[in-house]
Amino acid sequence: MLIFPKPQKYKAKVIEKQQLTKTVYLAKYQLLSPDTINFIAGQTMMITVAPGIFRAMSIASPPQEKTIITSVQDTAPGGPGSKWMTALKVGDDLELMAPLGRFVVDHDSPRKKVFVATGTGIAPFRSMLFDETDLRIPNEPISFYWGLRHKEDMYLFEEITIIDKLRDNLVFYFTLSQPPENEWDGLKGHVTGLVMSYEKDLINCDYYLCGNKKMILEMQEKLTAIGVPKDQLKFDPFY
Ligand SMILES: Cc1cc2nc3c(=O)[nH]c(=O)nc-3n(C[C@H](O)[C@H](O)[C@H](O)COP(=O)(O)OP(=O)(O)OC[C@H]3O[C@@H](n4cnc5c(N)ncnc54)[C@H](O)[C@@H]3O)c2cc1C
Repeated sequence: MLIFPKPQKYKAKVIEKQQLTKTVYLAKYQLLSPDTINFIAGQTMMITVAPGIFRAMSIASPPQEKTIITSVQDTAPGGPGSKWMTALKVGDDLELMAPLGRFVVDHDSPRKKVFVATGTGIAPFRSMLFDETDLRIPNEPISFYWGLRHKEDMYLFEEITIIDKLRDNLVFYFTLSQPPENEWDGLKGHVTGLVMSYEKDLINCDYYLCGNKKMILEMQEKLTAIGVPKDQLKFDPFY
């Protein structure tokens, strides 16, 4: 049985901030006090973005990185969390509470894992895919579906492609819902449609869904309609 580490308050410092697209940032936070964290891949943190205002952020780094945590954040929503990230600078201090949430892989289940992400819903899967514990589990088949809207929205693609090459148990499906005409020979459309057509044994999979609620609801509806039991669906809706 999984034991979830107890959440704690952390003081941290921004040590890296990278702009990945027009609105998406990757940031790294050095933990100061306490200076290490134990968490399970897929868990989240709650960052104080303004006095009394908190935003949930998935931990995008793997649990083996115990002193620095990474987030991948979209600032397109434009609210207090987005404003905080836009203004954030290397050297800034922050406070966060972690680890939180139960969106973690059930490695005891014999079923194939199907990971489905839209947008920055990639964040918990990045942690799961980089998790060395997971890498050591032989022959645990995983399909990873990730959907973004436009070609210019693309980020972290090379990184996931490298993991895909390293792991013989992983199949990575990347799709654009609004690809440029004549300039995209990859997959097109929404992740939901792809999962339903590419997975051969839909009933016997565990599904991990992360990103926008619309995708999560659609996946739930389609999968339960064909008889997938609800306890084979785990989800982390961002908005
Ligand atoms: C468990 C959990 C984990 C999360 N992890 C991440 C993460 O790793 N990366 C990340 O970018 N976000 C993540 N989020 C979303 C994040 O907590 C904020 O909701 C988001 O950053 C928007 O905050 P805001 O203050 O800028 O906007 P808000 O004022 O909170 O929202 C403004 C509006 O934008 C909508 N909205 C919220 N998020 C999005 C979005 N991504 N795209 C379009 N519209 C949106 C809201 O529904 C609202 O209508 C997570 C949410 C949850 C619940």
